[in-house]
Amino acid sequence: MTQSGIIFNTQRFSLHDGPGTRTVLFLKGCPLDCLWCSNPESKNPDMELMYYRSKCILCGQCVKSCEGLGISITEDGVLFDRNIVDIRKCAKACPTGALEIVGQKKSVDEIIPVLLRDVPYFRRSGGGVTLSGGEPTMQAAFCRELLLRLKALGIHSAVETCGHRTWEPFHRAVEAANLILFDLKHINPEKHSSAVGVDNEVIIYNFMKLVPEKKIIVRLPVIPGYNATDEHFRAAAALVLNSGFKGEVHLLPYHSYGSGKYKALQQVYQMEDTEPPTEKQLKAWAYLFESEGLVTKIH
Ligand code: SF4
Repeated sequence: MTQSGIIFNTQRFSLHDGPGTRTVLFLKGCPLDCLWCSNPESKNPDMELMYYRSKCILCGQCVKSCEGLGISITEDGVLFDRNIVDIRKCAKACPTGALEIVGQKKSVDEIIPVLLRDVPYFRRSGGGVTLSGGEPTMQAAFCRELLLRLKALGIHSAVETCGHRTWEPFHRAVEAANLILFDLKHINPEKHSSAVGVDNEVIIYNFMKLVPEKKIIVRLPVIPGYNATDEHFRAAAALVLNSGFKGEVHLLPYHSYGSGKYKALQQVYQMEDTEPPTEKQLKAWAYLFESEGLVTKIH
């Protein structure tokens, strides 16, 4: 019996999540709660319901299927209580796809054939498979088994991580990966907590421990109002250089592409008025790393 994981998306032909052409598996569940997250459907570790008002014809089939328990039609569309409603029944009853369940339980045996379809693209481009999320190491046993299978098949693998997991399960989860895409959101512990809900002690500990062992790309989100300051990037450069890190650094400028999904989850997107950082700022912060000999890219 192989391990199973909850996956909410499989994205083929990605060019931004590691080298070459990649297939990215997005795993559900994250210990952080970043305000700018472009995949808010990744945070909850369980399957959940998304509602798209633009696809809803107010036919009432979903209400009927659940006998009105925790679900009703209002002027603004369908309103449901996520703690009461039977999400499978609702989504199944909807004729238009306005109600969609995100997250599917899949075993490693079920996923491997899906990934094997893209092997010719991986070979031609130097690509492979990336586990993303959410936080893949939340599903450590599944992650480990999948990475070991990819290794045995000679397929390059990468894991995108926020690093917030105690060392042993974290290390077990990522040990077999060829590459780690390690996010560092803030170097100051209090500021880290203020927008993501946890401090960064475990994250920095894991990063320092992993640097001598694994090939890593450091990824720094650039979020105006949170970390887009000279002070933050100087501290990030100092930490990265002190760790002995010699790999690439990628700056990931803020964008609001995921904002529509908050509505579908009946949540409020709190960064509506945030503008992305300017090119001039990004280049100045990239230079802090480039001037120390680190290859630095702006996504
Ligand atoms: S079944 Fe679908 S289309 Fe009909 S009211 Fe419910 S969500 Fe809207």
